[in-house]
Amino acid sequence: MRSFDAIVLGAGITGTSAALHLQGRGLRVALIDRDAPGEDATRGNDGLIGRDGYSALAVPLGLPGILAGALTRRHGLGIDSRSLPDLARFFAEARLAARPSSAARAARALAPLQAVAAAEHLALARAASALRFFRRTGWIKLLRSRRACELAEVDRHFARILGVPYVDLDAVEIVRLEPHLRSLEEAAIYWPESQSVSSPGGVTRAYGRLFRERGGDVEIGDAGSLLDTRQGFALRTVRGEVGAPIVVLALGAGVSPVLARFGLGLPLAACRSYHRHFRAVSGVSLARPVTDQEGGFTLTPMERGLRLVGGTELMSPARALGAAPLRANALQRAGAAAKALLPLGSVVEERPAAGVRVFVPDQLPIVGEMPGMPGLWLSVGHMRDGFSLAPAMARLLADLVTDMMPLADPQPYSPSRFLVG
Ligand SMILES: Cc1cc2nc3c(=O)[nH]c(=O)nc-3n(C[C@H](O)[C@H](O)[C@H](O)COP(=O)(O)OP(=O)(O)OC[C@H]3O[C@@H](n4cnc5c(N)ncnc54)[C@H](O)[C@@H]3O)c2cc1C
Repeated sequence: MRSFDAIVLGAGITGTSAALHLQGRGLRVALIDRDAPGEDATRGNDGLIGRDGYSALAVPLGLPGILAGALTRRHGLGIDSRSLPDLARFFAEARLAARPSSAARAARALAPLQAVAAAEHLALARAASALRFFRRTGWIKLLRSRRACELAEVDRHFARILGVPYVDLDAVEIVRLEPHLRSLEEAAIYWPESQSVSSPGGVTRAYGRLFRERGGDVEIGDAGSLLDTRQGFALRTVRGEVGAPIVVLALGAGVSPVLARFGLGLPLAACRSYHRHFRAVSGVSLARPVTDQEGGFTLTPMERGLRLVGGTELMSPARALGAAPLRANALQRAGAAAKALLPLGSVVEERPAAGVRVFVPDQLPIVGEMPGMPGLWLSVGHMRDGFSLAPAMARLLADLVTDMMPLADPQPYSPSRFLVG
């Protein structure tokens, strides 16, 4: 068996960043995934390194809202009805966490990490020769419905407390920033400190290359073969068995079946969304990500074209991993709303692809060592900020693993708050 100081399972942006940070502390690290870093992971996101106030989780709570979500697309969020039994604990805990005091706690806990998120990315990007992907674009959130305005008020409230700058835009100011948006009657919030990348997959692959160049081991293997050997952990890869006293699970929605092997469970929900690129229409461009909650989409200029992300559906992580069939018409509503806003050219891909966010009921990621399982660490549930926060979260994780002064108070992220088993 080949021995390492630490094994990171999952080579999305979370695992790849964690592997780099652990390596930076002098640990011999193996990064293991079913696929190469950034190939299939961290797919289809909006490419935002968001710096806003606090976006409340737009998940319907209470039985009527949940049933309406399962039957319709009210709130712009569908619910996979077959997942409802598995999501019962998620909904119960999310309801408890839906108090204003819980939102304030989550916003406060995330603030120090959000404040350094872009700088942490840029530090890795500089070393990985990936700065070309990063752009200081800012981010426009359109306010086209009463609900969007209500959520924006929460956003502004926390932005004022946390000192995050924003600009309220009227219709004329929106078009001044984005001249090709069809004339709108509505208002928007502009978040000037938000940045975006032109290829989230490109960034993840570049970080993976840097890890390898610095001597890291990247291997193909299935986390399903993870064993607790009492002296540490062991796992089969295509190159044979590997072992380490420390294992980090950065498996996204794939964490649940691995935890289940150890008799553990977390109240997670998976949120599947779809994305597709459109070629630009001659003379028409978009300079920055634009989100329209009412239309249920975000449009971001990317390397491959204008990326449309929408068609969101809440489901159990197990169903998101494959059992729930992809919806062929998932982007229809978002596409129609986006085209009403900006002329879009022909599609780049034959059909939309899906990506998955992992939601945690109290809207805080789960980062820390599993109680009662020394050496088993988690970094999962990064919701809609997983791309933005990955390098900052990786630094926090490395601080905890190596017993250094942590970048932020780790207590709000502890797995112990949910764990049963
Ligand atoms: C539509 C959409 C829009 C988003 N927009 C943004 C945004 O603008 N900004 C932002 O910050 N975040 C955004 N996010 C969230 C962000 O993309 C995710 O939080 C982030 O990519 C999660 O990365 P991860 O590495 O934790 O998980 P993943 O990218 O899911 O990676 C998990 C890895 O684990 C591997 N794996 C799973 N199971 C196994 C197994 N059994 N064995 C081996 N390997 C396994 C998978 O192959 C995968 O490579 C968005 C997400 C979506 C879906």
